[in-house]
Amino acid sequence: MAQQKSPAMKHILEMSKEERRNFLSSFDTLMSDCDGVLWNFTGPIPGVDKALQMLRTDGKQLAFISNNGMRTMEEYRKKFHALGIDAQEEEIVHPALTTVHYLKSIGMRDAVFCIGTEVFKDYLRKAGFQVLDGPKERFPDSREANQVRVYTDYFEQRGGPKVGAVVVDIDVNLSLQSLMKAKCYLERNPSCLFIAGATDYIIPLDSSMDVIGPGYFIDILERSTGRKALVLGKPGKALAQVVLEQFDVADPKRVLFVGDMLPQDMGFGTRCGFQKLLMLSGGTPKDVLLAHDDPDQLPNYYADSFADFIELYNDNMHIEE
Ligand SMILES: [Mg+2]
Repeated sequence: MAQQKSPAMKHILEMSKEERRNFLSSFDTLMSDCDGVLWNFTGPIPGVDKALQMLRTDGKQLAFISNNGMRTMEEYRKKFHALGIDAQEEEIVHPALTTVHYLKSIGMRDAVFCIGTEVFKDYLRKAGFQVLDGPKERFPDSREANQVRVYTDYFEQRGGPKVGAVVVDIDVNLSLQSLMKAKCYLERNPSCLFIAGATDYIIPLDSSMDVIGPGYFIDILERSTGRKALVLGKPGKALAQVVLEQFDVADPKRVLFVGDMLPQDMGFGTRCGFQKLLMLSGGTPKDVLLAHDDPDQLPNYYADSFADFIELYNDNMHIEE
């Protein structure tokens, strides 16, 4: 298979001194993914704290856009604090918050069926939404059990509140029954919204371990209902609109988007018209990056990790002396 590379894709430490200087002055805002870029599941990535401080000292506006709605805002703040960054709530974007903002913005009053973590559901509850989940009971699988009756109950939602939105994000307890319930809500009421948070197919935990993400299950619901999810995580178009408005982006080319996943992060950067930098510190090894051939999911730049910014700045300061 022919290897295709974006001609503009450059390692930031393999650029000439002039290119390095031009690169650093080409953006005013740095928007960054979190997992795999600032920290891995096993701990912080070395050099991130110093690199972020240098970027801030250089006057770069920082914002953080994660697909991980499993972490509370308090946990995010603590992690940022450990990196020497006092990130404000409005500087952190993740699918649970975006979903809450979106549902409020359209005046949703009906119940929300959520396939997601308790953290995600708590954000919805705290915002005043009635949240349905489950079912927690096992589906009868004996020959005598009336499975048709159970499916009919799912479909007819006897006695339950009206469901105005089905929301699917990461759920470690996801089951066939919960997917069946979601399918029934979506099919029974064509005006029921279908919202997806994170769409990742694979979630890397560290360099040797990854887990199945919600992407495959969103596909199941899309294919079995013929509906398309409104994606409020990266690389969703709806999230792009939220981010461009929330951060008042006047010139997308002056934003550098940093992430470790090709479809989610680089795809999102393309969608927003941002410059893109892929960090090799998370879910994408260098050979996968170099073999990838979807131009919409390729970065303009790549780096081993945020620590490369330290060398870039030290080198640049040296030039200016
Ligand atoms: Mg990531």
